[in-house]
Amino acid sequence: MRNPLTRMFEFRDAPPEKAQFFWTGGPVRAAPGVWFQSAYSGVTAFETAEGLVLVDSGAPMGGPSMAAALRKQSSLPVHTVVFTHGHVDHTLGLPAFLIPGQAPPRVVAHRAIIARFDRYRRTAAHNQRINARQFAGTDEAARPGGAFDLFGSAPRPDLLVDDQAELEVGGLRFELRHARGETDDHLYVFCPQRGVLCPGDLFIWAVPNAGNPQKVQRYPWDWAAALRQMATLGARTMCPGHGGPVIDDPVRVERMLTETADYLETLVERTLSALEQGSPPHVDVVTTVLAPTSEAPWLQPIYDDPEFLVRNVVRYFGGWWSGRPSELKPAPRLEVAAEMARLAGGPSALVERAAELAAAGRDRLAAHLYDFALEAAPDDPAVQAAVGGFYERRAEAERSLMATNLFNAAARSARRGSPFR
Ligand SMILES: [Zn+2]
Repeated sequence: MRNPLTRMFEFRDAPPEKAQFFWTGGPVRAAPGVWFQSAYSGVTAFETAEGLVLVDSGAPMGGPSMAAALRKQSSLPVHTVVFTHGHVDHTLGLPAFLIPGQAPPRVVAHRAIIARFDRYRRTAAHNQRINARQFAGTDEAARPGGAFDLFGSAPRPDLLVDDQAELEVGGLRFELRHARGETDDHLYVFCPQRGVLCPGDLFIWAVPNAGNPQKVQRYPWDWAAALRQMATLGARTMCPGHGGPVIDDPVRVERMLTETADYLETLVERTLSALEQGSPPHVDVVTTVLAPTSEAPWLQPIYDDPEFLVRNVVRYFGGWWSGRPSELKPAPRLEVAAEMARLAGGPSALVERAAELAAAGRDRLAAHLYDFALEAAPDDPAVQAAVGGFYERRAEAERSLMATNLFNAAARSARRGSPFR
């Protein structure tokens, strides 16, 4: 099975336009005294007279390699770290960047990061599971000791930011601003003296992660407003949350931010227009909204999937009910599957018809029948193989990491005789 995450190894030090979301490399000199590196997620280091100011600190796995590379360029202690948001891949790599014996750095974050870390501690097993699906394409049970168990030792912020803040460290000034976007605790950082913008995950060299099927609410309307505000800053250089840096090219930075704002606004507007047509069931909205497309290398659907962004808008404005009467107070799914199989003439009849539909290119419709077949006969090896094979092919046909790996997880579950649940 193909896991799109492996592209980050393929694209080490490749041109950012080619690697897009998956750029890995650095340290690159982004501006005088400013180093950018990325191992899945990016870290920007600003040299100041008092020590380094880091924007983000990578993941527990990526942090050490980035720190080792950065230390070839700078031996300054870390004075301050600003977290753009409380995701594992931006916060938990910090220990590797510290010089042995140095004073603890000042940790700066948005106020909502506290509740986020509490939530991750309370739902550590759940988060291990959903991230195993998203990043590893597996539905195996949560693995103790995984990244979300580490939030017990997450760095505690010393300075909490509300709407905005200004920091001054060793002669360098940093403007921090809050915006809800991918998360409710997002900050972006601009250093006017260096002309460097760190947008965090508000810019990731891909269609924004504003849909994510397994994660909490995202805010694409506030996100677009933040992108437009960032576009007015006159940044010469952008060091993003994911993907490579854009160096000394203010026109391009402005264009990337503005086009991403356009993309989000168009998608929100089309979804709201569909909702305004009499509030149809969610799935009907999703299948009727035409997602915007772009030729730009920074707006390809390689991480999140535009269809999932539509869902996220529907969820915010529409509550949890799909709109289908049967789904207001549904029967247990296994009972529904058993009844469908009985009507069809058995699980094998469902599989047979599903295969015909899939062969005719109607994968979406086929998937419903395959799901019912597996749920009705989870122990039947022929059903397991048919459903597993179908989802492997479906994963192969997807562009986004999320759809690919969620279908990979479904395929693995099917082959184990365990319906996706
Ligand atoms: Zn991220």
